Amino acid sequence: MIQNKAPGKDVSIEDMKEKFPLTAKTDKSHTSFFEIAGISFGGKLIPVMAGPNMVENENLIVETAIQVKKAGAHFLRGGAFKPLTFPYRSEKYTETREEGIKWLGIAKKEAGIGIITEVMEEKYLDMICDVADILQIGSRNMQNYPLITAAAKTDKPLMIKRHYGASLRDWLGAAEYALYEGNRKVILCERGVSVPHTHKDSSRFLLDLQVVPAAKEITHLPIAVDPSHATFWRPWVKPMALASIAAGCDSVMLEVHPDPENSAVDPLQPIDFQDFEHLMIDMNKIANNVNRCVLD
Ligand code: PEP
Ligand code: MN
Repeated sequence: MIQNKAPGKDVSIEDMKEKFPLTAKTDKSHTSFFEIAGISFGGKLIPVMAGPNMVENENLIVETAIQVKKAGAHFLRGGAFKPLTFPYRSEKYTETREEGIKWLGIAKKEAGIGIITEVMEEKYLDMICDVADILQIGSRNMQNYPLITAAAKTDKPLMIKRHYGASLRDWLGAAEYALYEGNRKVILCERGVSVPHTHKDSSRFLLDLQVVPAAKEITHLPIAVDPSHATFWRPWVKPMALASIAAGCDSVMLEVHPDPENSAVDPLQPIDFQDFEHLMIDMNKIANNVNRCVLD
């Protein structure tokens, strides 16, 4: 029987050699460095992806793109295709799908900012790729291997969010599916895990900050953190974003909305433009302390 020599890390030396050789570091200093839409990942810069949960309408996404870009964000985030937890919809709470992707394209042009958006089904990949600079594989699809494989084959950069019940080993296995297709631009994103007891009824997840240094010991891929989905609670987003940078993350995803309380999806978690602008400055200060930067 193969002994796991590092049980605390949930990954053995044999796993690194045999199960995810492309995702694993070849030596301690092995780090992936690549550019997406002119923005570097894996280097000194910690790129920030910001925007609403959902691409609700054209005005909202264009306004958000302009404001987050002005505050220094590197990518606009927003889902037009969304894995909403329950099937019931209202007029406001509904995916904007093809139209949403079109509006992301308009926002991209108007603000001059790269786009990250979620892909849920292979059949929409071509259309989404016309606009997206990064394809997001959502937490719920982390083990949808046909989707990851198809997305990786487009050669667009991917960001794979960790499922809230997935081990580090499972998460790295998902990345291996993308690298196996020859796609080298893969980002991993921690977004909170399920635990039996969180501190508040409204908190669905617990940010696993420890997975940042743990993952970085094992993989050369950049590790992003999404404190918005992890905390599910606006007042906790700022401290956890700062802590993510202190923990060594390579990118931060944040939900930003012009009118957070009226966000169509998850209104408890987005921050407004002003808080985002301040947070960018504060994140940059922490980043400077660890010899990195958020604002270029
Ligand atoms: C999102 O980023 O909008 C999202 C749905 O994230 P997650 O897959 O982490 O829940
Ligand atoms: Mn969401």
